[in-house]
Amino acid sequence: MATRAHCLVLAYPAQGHINPMLQFSKLLERQGVRITLVTTRFYYNNLQTVPPSIALETISDGFDNGGPKEAGGFKPYLERFWEVGPLTFSELLEKHGGSKHVDCVVYDSFFSWAPEVAKRFGIVGAAYLTQNMAVNSIYYHVHLGKLQVPLKQHQFSLPAMPKLYLQDMPSFFFGEDFTFLDFVVSQFSSIHKADWILCNTFYDLDKEIADWIVKVWPQFKTIGPNIPSFFLDKQWEDDQDYGVTEFKSEEHCMEWLDEKPKGSVVYVSFGSMASFGEEQMEEIAWCLRECSSYFLWVVRASEETKLPKDFERKTEKGLVVKWCSQLKVLAHEAVGCFVTHCGWNSTLETLCLGVPTVAVPYWSDQNTNAKLVSEVWKTGTRAVVDEKKVVRRETLKHCINEIMNGCREMKNNAIQWRSLAVRAVTEGGSSYENIKEFVNNLWHS
Ligand code: UDP
Repeated sequence: MATRAHCLVLAYPAQGHINPMLQFSKLLERQGVRITLVTTRFYYNNLQTVPPSIALETISDGFDNGGPKEAGGFKPYLERFWEVGPLTFSELLEKHGGSKHVDCVVYDSFFSWAPEVAKRFGIVGAAYLTQNMAVNSIYYHVHLGKLQVPLKQHQFSLPAMPKLYLQDMPSFFFGEDFTFLDFVVSQFSSIHKADWILCNTFYDLDKEIADWIVKVWPQFKTIGPNIPSFFLDKQWEDDQDYGVTEFKSEEHCMEWLDEKPKGSVVYVSFGSMASFGEEQMEEIAWCLRECSSYFLWVVRASEETKLPKDFERKTEKGLVVKWCSQLKVLAHEAVGCFVTHCGWNSTLETLCLGVPTVAVPYWSDQNTNAKLVSEVWKTGTRAVVDEKKVVRRETLKHCINEIMNGCREMKNNAIQWRSLAVRAVTEGGSSYENIKEFVNNLWHS
């Protein structure tokens, strides 16, 4: 009897990175592949939940006890991680018997060193892109030297993309310190070494850019959206959670939602990292208080002190929680609109659950995602910032009301995208077939 193919899935230690890679792992597992999920020791030790069915292993980022905080900055964190990570990952591959027992390393493309390590062991390497294809293409063009930093123009024309303006570009282009930009661009320094390039998107959503990029990267495949099956194709009813989380979910918000009428609640959440200033928090708080809709607002424990002093966490009209099961909330019929920072996972999730959005991008790729949501996929509207880069309460209120009190177009578009996303992951669909091809090749590698 043939032994099962074995994949080591190396995830970057952040909620928005581990979620889709774990979900992709489950899809591979369902096709008979054995999975070992790998993340850093520090991240693993701080997880609230870990998936019961998937084996977990760790590597070191050089800061096993304190993680990035212990490093005292992103630059020293990365420098050490990039020294220690490849070494400890090599040790892990040795421990697992190298190419004898590992058929493929699926690595977050952020780990530009990973394909080199996999090659040294003679193991197939698959880069997994956790960000949107437009964003990947922007960074790739910087890597090619076709987009110069600091940006000098106001408009940008890149192949297979709508015209981009300054406000649509990732935040890492702005400011004086380009550490983050260098980091995200560096993932493309080794992309040509990947045997596969997998992106968490689906063909219909990124058709033009996918058709263009495959001419540059013939090993490119769309394999998303990687979202628990219960919320997408419903093939696996018990797959209702990513299965791994940094934060403890406050489940009582579901009961609170149960009591609210259909489409009456605005869900507000800015993901696992965004950290707005007090002024912005105050504008959001008063907007929600003054809006006619109910609201459910996720304010992580680290952000709570920024809430206005007299802002009540639980009233008939609104509820503030530290974390929730976002997919369950978005799937709840009481939710009519999502005010989001446009992290790529949140963007895909809201698209897949047919919920229209108000985009309030915070940093990183979120400006570009907000552009796509509001102008290309037309499932939401973007809240404009003032000269202090703050979205004012009146602006936010106007955006929310546009969705909650009338405009059906965005809702209808979101529902259409949902059906295309379901089609992509169903037998015969683009992502489904791409994953099947990937798995078939594992058996033969
Ligand atoms: N999320 C969640 N509960 C919350 C807020 C976020 O489960 O209260 C999940 C969300 O479903 C998504 C992830 O956290 O899968 C956030 O990823 P995203 O890319 O949207 O943003 P990031 O955290 O990377 O900024």
